[in-house]
Amino acid sequence: MKVLKFGGTSVGTPQRMKDVVKLITDGEQKIVVLSAMSGTTNMLYEISDYLHKKNPVGANENINQLEEKYFQHVDDLYTTEEYKKKATEFLQQEFDYIRSFTKGIFTMFEEKIIVGQGEILSTNMVALYMQEQGLNAALLPALEFMRTDKNGEPDLEYIREKLKLIMSEEEEHEIYITQGFICRNAYGEVENLQRGGSDYSASLIGAAIGASEIQIWTDIDGMHNNDPRIVDKTSPVGQLSFEEASELAYFGAKILHPTCIQPAKFAGIPVRLLNTMDPSAPGTIISNKTQRGTIKAVAAKDNITAINITSSRMLLAYGFLRKVFEIFESYKTSIDMVTTSEVGVSVSIDNTTNLSQILNELKKLGTVTVDVDMCIICVVGDLDWHNIGFESLATETMKEVPVRMISYGGSNHNISFLVAAADKKKALQSLSNHLFNA
Ligand code: ASP
Repeated sequence: MKVLKFGGTSVGTPQRMKDVVKLITDGEQKIVVLSAMSGTTNMLYEISDYLHKKNPVGANENINQLEEKYFQHVDDLYTTEEYKKKATEFLQQEFDYIRSFTKGIFTMFEEKIIVGQGEILSTNMVALYMQEQGLNAALLPALEFMRTDKNGEPDLEYIREKLKLIMSEEEEHEIYITQGFICRNAYGEVENLQRGGSDYSASLIGAAIGASEIQIWTDIDGMHNNDPRIVDKTSPVGQLSFEEASELAYFGAKILHPTCIQPAKFAGIPVRLLNTMDPSAPGTIISNKTQRGTIKAVAAKDNITAINITSSRMLLAYGFLRKVFEIFESYKTSIDMVTTSEVGVSVSIDNTTNLSQILNELKKLGTVTVDVDMCIICVVGDLDWHNIGFESLATETMKEVPVRMISYGGSNHNISFLVAAADKKKALQSLSNHLFNA
């Protein structure tokens, strides 16, 4: 069985919902994971924000706006009076429920419930539409089987058991529709898998049922070899290994949420990225296979800060790096890139919440300098050091760009360059011209 996930823009209008239904009704049994209609989750967070600030009037204005938008969809999505009535009643009940939160106390617990309503809305609307069309579909409520453990990590064993049980109790259907993003925690309270978490839901469900494939449907034809918003002439990458995809997902290729890779990788299930607007395009397949000796793509990560610590105490000493890293650890700040010499170490971070405290501590160890507004440019592919020439090719391509740090050898799949944000476009374009379009 396959698991197919459709993102917010893929179900963003009644017409898109109809297109999705057309796509999924091919006679094959499958589980379909849906996000909220685009814009809805943001709006629900906005409503929660008003309620945290004890402004029920502001929250109600937003609820009314959202409600109006959803009611407008009824006539476009359903054809029969019977289903228009059913959908209207469902929406009425949903929005009354959301409105009920404006009356009582509002904590993080209530927020978790509200922000998950977007997925409840989209899945019910699509399921009702499929019923109206006489299609063989059933709704599987994610809150009945998606769960995190006491550490806040997905409880795959529970998900597997529970899903198996629910599906065995349900009569056989061609299509099972469920919500992405939402789950319960170990205490049964409503939780979610963080923003963009529907990809993660799909991957966990795929791993739980041992799916033959997990398909992530978005509005772009697969992972591109460079950022199409910034450089000219990018093209989709046909095949990536899980490692390459993780690097790209982390370094800014927004098409796939980074958390989605791990469950699929462990279960050995291929992930295919496909485009709802162009369903016959081949997209990108991500699997355990590595294509030897090829550079696949380039990606960039913004808002990076570089910190350099130099100290003659580092010369021939041991334990110096540990002390440096411990400071970052104690301020819960993760380090992206690291380069070292005998008398200095440079690191890059993207979370500067505790930067001033970190700098105060580091100054006890050596002389500290900081470069802000930097950007990591990352070249991804099979870059094993036995494949001679790739690192020189990448650095040669960057010869016109001032480079603050270079990192190679941390994994077999990545060469990273730290450059000023102002040079990002130049660096990406130059890499694209030389690596992919030469
Ligand atoms: N609807 C949620 C969000 O916007 C989850 C998702 O779409 O993946 O973050």
